[in-house]
Amino acid sequence: MKASQFYISTLKEAPADAEIVSHQLMTRAGMIKKLGAGIYTYMPMGLRVIRKVEAIVREEMNRAGAVECVMPVIQPGELWSESGRFQGMGPELLRVKDRHDRDFVVQPTSEEAVTDIARQDLRSYKQLPRNLYQIQTKFRDERRPRFGLMRGREFIMKDAYSFDRDEAGAKKSYQAMARAYRAIFDRFGLRYRAVAADSGAIGGDLSEEFQVVAATGEDAIVYCPGSDYAANMEKAEAAPPGPRPAPGQALALTPTPGKATCEDVAALLGVPLQTTVKSIVLATDEPGDAGGARQPQVWLLLLRGDHMLSEVKAGKVPGLERGFRFATEAEIVAHFGIKPGYLGPIRTVRPVRIVADREVAAMADWICGANRVDHHLTGVNWGRDLPEPELVADIRNVVAGDPSPDGQGPLAIERGIEIGHIFYLGTKYSRAMNATFLDEDGKPKPFEMGCYGIGITRLPAAAIEQNHDARGIIWPDAIAPFTLVICPVGMDRSEAVKAAAERLHADLLAAGVDVILDDRGERPGVMFADWELIGVPHRVTIGDKSLKEGQVEYQHRRDTATTRVPADTILAFLKGRLAA
Ligand code: ATP
Ligand code: MG
Repeated sequence: MKASQFYISTLKEAPADAEIVSHQLMTRAGMIKKLGAGIYTYMPMGLRVIRKVEAIVREEMNRAGAVECVMPVIQPGELWSESGRFQGMGPELLRVKDRHDRDFVVQPTSEEAVTDIARQDLRSYKQLPRNLYQIQTKFRDERRPRFGLMRGREFIMKDAYSFDRDEAGAKKSYQAMARAYRAIFDRFGLRYRAVAADSGAIGGDLSEEFQVVAATGEDAIVYCPGSDYAANMEKAEAAPPGPRPAPGQALALTPTPGKATCEDVAALLGVPLQTTVKSIVLATDEPGDAGGARQPQVWLLLLRGDHMLSEVKAGKVPGLERGFRFATEAEIVAHFGIKPGYLGPIRTVRPVRIVADREVAAMADWICGANRVDHHLTGVNWGRDLPEPELVADIRNVVAGDPSPDGQGPLAIERGIEIGHIFYLGTKYSRAMNATFLDEDGKPKPFEMGCYGIGITRLPAAAIEQNHDARGIIWPDAIAPFTLVICPVGMDRSEAVKAAAERLHADLLAAGVDVILDDRGERPGVMFADWELIGVPHRVTIGDKSLKEGQVEYQHRRDTATTRVPADTILAFLKGRLAA
C-alpha cells in the first residue's frame, strides 16, 4: 500500500466530547468519524483494524466448529413478540415501522432470529449440536452513548448461538466457546481476564465476561492474586464472616446531634466505621387483596457502614426478586416516624421486613440509627436488643482486602472493559418460541442454548486504552492497521532513497507483510508524528545520508531510539522482528 493512494486524515486536536484516550486517539488518527451520537463511520484506517479483529475472531470460531451466517439487521417485531422482548425490552431496543405500519426492530442481538432458523431446520437430535454465528451490525439505543466506539449505539458484534440436545451438551458447547475465547483474546496481545458473571434468572455459574484490563474501564473486576478466582462486581463474593462474638456492651441511646451518616457518627464517637450499620429502605409493590389497591411493603436492608449495597444481589433476596424500588420519603416517615438520617431496625413505628447483610448478621456491639432525630443506638446486639434477623443474605459489593471465597488470600479490584460475554441460556428462548427437535425417543424437546458475544468495534478502543503513550496509539501487531511503515526522507530529491524504499516495499509485500510506504512527500517531523499517532508498530526510515553509508534505521513504536541496520540485511532483520 502506498500512502498517497490511501486515506490518511490525522487531526491535531481531539473533539471536545472525547473524554477518554481511545476516543481521542481514534478520532485524531482518522480511524473513526462521528455522524451522530454513538454513530460512527469506520474510516479506512480504522476499518483495517476492525477487519483484522474480525479475521482473528472468524478463524478461531471456525476452528471451534461454529458456522458463519448473517442475519438481518432489521427484524420483524412479531418474532420479537414471541420471546416477549418486543414488549419487554426497554428503550435500548430500537423499534421502527414500515410503510404498512408493521413493527420491526433493529437487532441488538439475534436470539429470536437464530431460534427461528433452528426450529425450521434442526428437526432431529442427529443434527445437533450446532453453533451458528454472525459478525454483524447491532443497534442499541444506549442511554448514554459515549467514549466513541467503546459504547456506541451502532456497533459491530460477533454473536454466536449454540443448540444442543440437553444440558450436558450445552455445557460442553459453552466450554468449547470459553476455550475459543481464550484463544482469540490471547491472539490480540492484550492483558485480559475471564471473570465469572452473574447469570441472572438462569442461575448456575455458566456465564463469563472477558475483560480487558484498563484504568478507564467501566466495570470493576474482582480477583484473587493468590488464585485464579475472578468475578465481576455483581457476582463476586467474599468468604463468609466468622461466628458472631458474644455481646460485650450494654444497649445505649447516644446523642449524635447533626451526625446523620455512619462516617460522621464513627468520627464523633471515635470508633471504626466497621462498627456502624446503615439502613437502606426499599419498597416492593405487593398486589392488594381482591384486586384492590397495591400495598407497598417496606423493607429495611442493613449493611455495615463501610459497605455498599449491591442491587443485583439484593434482587435475589426472596421477596425482592420481582423488583424493588427505594422507598419514598412519605413511606419512610410512615414506617419510622422520622425522615432518613437516623433510621434503624429497632422500634419502628410500623413493621418492616428486615434483611441483614451476612456481615451485619455476624456483628456484635454495633451502632445504628435510633429512629429518633439526632440519636443513635450503641452496643446493639442481635437476639438481645432485637430479634435475630428475619433474612440474612450477601447483599453487598466486595471491597479490596475482603477474604477470597476460595480461602486463597485477600481480594483485589481493578477496572476492566467488557469485550466478550459467554452465557448458557438453557431453554429460555426455545421454550418461548416453541423451538423443538425430535429426540432419540421420538419426543419433541426444546433446544438447550448458549449465546456468545464479542464487541468487535469495542475491542480496538479497549486495545488503545491499554496501549498508548503521549504520542499516540501503540497497536499490538495482530490488529495494527499496518504492521510496518516505510518512511523515506527526501524521496523527491534522492533517486537512491526512492529506489531503496520502493524495493523494500515490494520485497515486504512479496513476503506477505502488511506494509505501507509513506510516499506523500511530507517532512520527516510530520511523517513521524502521523505514524506515531496512528500507532503502526514497526517503522523503517530510509535517508540519503545513512543510505550512502549502507544503512537504514529501524524503530519499534515502543523503542526510544532507532537501530541502524545494514540496508542489505534489513529484510531478514524485519522478518525476525515481525516473527518475534
Ligand atoms: P455492557 O455491559 O458494556 O453494556 P452488555 O452486557 O450489554 O455490555 P452483551 O449484550 O453481552 O453486552 O454484548 C456482547 C458484547 O458486545 C459486549 O461484551 C461488548 O463487548 C459489546 N457491546 C455491548 N454493548 C456495546 C455498545 N453499546 N457499544 C460497543 N460494544 C458493545
Ligand atoms: Mg449493555
